[in-house]
Amino acid sequence: MIFVTLVRQLLDRPATNPFPTRHMPRSIIRLLERARRGKGAIHPPVPVPAGMRGKLVYDRDKCIGCQLCVRVCPARVIEFRSEQKKIRMHVARCTFCSQCVDACPVAALATSREFLLADTDRRSRNLIVE
Ligand code: SF4
Ligand code: SF4
Repeated sequence: MIFVTLVRQLLDRPATNPFPTRHMPRSIIRLLERARRGKGAIHPPVPVPAGMRGKLVYDRDKCIGCQLCVRVCPARVIEFRSEQKKIRMHVARCTFCSQCVDACPVAALATSREFLLADTDRRSRNLIVE
């Protein structure tokens, strides 16, 4: 039975697109569609659901440096920069639990709908929020 399932999976059309397809120009998508003719279509992107907890957004000007977010974060994402009384977030470690957002007394933190966070360097600019 397992063997049958395995063979079926190997022969089935892929259910997903190559990761960056959604963000490619239409012309490239058309080229890919032509190349994949007979091998399965490019699937339309799945809409991002409302309320999705994506990459954190930090409003530095609102932040009062209370460190509540630092205390509640279970993944030690948030570093307090005492000289500036502001925070720096290492998004590569974030579990998107949103506890820091709930804890912030001045609404300086929010989640966005951005989820394309794959990177080869966990210290890249895209993964540091400050
Ligand atoms: S969302 Fe959760 S894991 Fe991410 S920084 Fe906030 S508290 Fe930490
Ligand atoms: S909880 Fe809000 S105000 Fe306090 S340090 Fe974190 S971001 Fe700044």
